[in-house]
Amino acid sequence: MNIKELDKKYVLPTYARADVEFVSGDNARLVDADGKKYIDFTSGIGVVSVGHANKRLNTAICSQIENITHTSNLYHSAAQVNAAQKLVDASAFDMQCFFGNSGAEANEGAIKIARKFGEINGEVKKYKIITLRHSFHGRTITTVKATGQDIMHNYFGPFPDGFVYADAIQDIESLIDDHTCAVMIELVQGEGGVQPQDKKEVQVLAKLLKSRGVLLIVDEVQTGAYRTGKFLASQVYEIEPDIVTLAKGIGGGVPVGVVMTSLKDVLSAGDHGSTFGGNFLSSIAVCEVMDILKEYEDSSKLQETTSYFNEAVAKVYASFPSMFTQKVGIGMMCGLRVKDAETLNSILSKAKENGVMLLKAGKNTLRFLPPLTITKGEIDEGFNSLNNALSSL
Ligand SMILES: *Cc1c(COP(=O)(O)O)cnc(C)c1O
Repeated sequence: MNIKELDKKYVLPTYARADVEFVSGDNARLVDADGKKYIDFTSGIGVVSVGHANKRLNTAICSQIENITHTSNLYHSAAQVNAAQKLVDASAFDMQCFFGNSGAEANEGAIKIARKFGEINGEVKKYKIITLRHSFHGRTITTVKATGQDIMHNYFGPFPDGFVYADAIQDIESLIDDHTCAVMIELVQGEGGVQPQDKKEVQVLAKLLKSRGVLLIVDEVQTGAYRTGKFLASQVYEIEPDIVTLAKGIGGGVPVGVVMTSLKDVLSAGDHGSTFGGNFLSSIAVCEVMDILKEYEDSSKLQETTSYFNEAVAKVYASFPSMFTQKVGIGMMCGLRVKDAETLNSILSKAKENGVMLLKAGKNTLRFLPPLTITKGEIDEGFNSLNNALSSL
């Protein structure tokens, strides 16, 4: 049986996979099973932040696992403490970390912290969490409910109570009541369509929440790890959230989720945990990814790459005015609104045919989420292929 048949026979059909099997990679390059080469503008949905087969990351992981991979959270771990220190230092927030294994799990942790905070502070139990309509917060039962899109709430119920949806940032204030413990937002909605929030509106919201004693949770699972130009999008927006969640790009491909919070004494021993979370393997990956990306930012390479990439996106936008309606995004998280969903699907498959991999976001956004370490040569090659694809449509 070939891979397609084996997949069909043994793996649950939860994904509509593209018909391609990648077998190797090198920074922003991918090679499929037939030896065909591609430029990768997806980085595995924002995960491979330091590129495919990154030598430094691989060396760090290999030398760690030659010693020890996992002992559980019952014991101290230098790798975990080092990872936490690097994350806190890069954020410049006075926070502490909890390590899990995915974005959804990080958000679950954030929700638990907010709920316990709401339960132990004040006379009435505060448990409601306001999220946005076009948000995406994960696939567990609770994070599916935290996600504001109705289409995600088919089946699977009953869901946990207490999630309230706002259509936009300005509508949040009117939804706050005595039972509201937190507001959870993405600063740039990723899955929702690469939609950045307005900086001023977010700053006004942050101030309002502080004055009302309502926590601000920023889901940085996609925006974090230098994706939007700084370590956190919260730094780009110049706000100080109470809780930040991270995952995707922070492990460079090793599964890891992180909750960071300034609420250091809400959870106590036994309130929360994870068997795998923060083990030597994932923690050493976080340490090395953070070192690589910090150097990349400090040397201005991140800013150079970001400008170069965005100029290329702008050029495509200008060259095909009949196809695209808007350029959206921040930093290395960008997109082009396509006139309709059908055209977007043909762009994606033509691009793949021409050797460049791209993503979809929302119904009609062509999403670019390249490795942050993509080179100018790789950018040129990828956009050359994309231009050929678009011209042939
Ligand atoms: C991807 C994503 C998640 C879910 O992350 P998983 O690792 O798939 O659980 C949550 N929030 C945002 C903003 C995301 O982009």
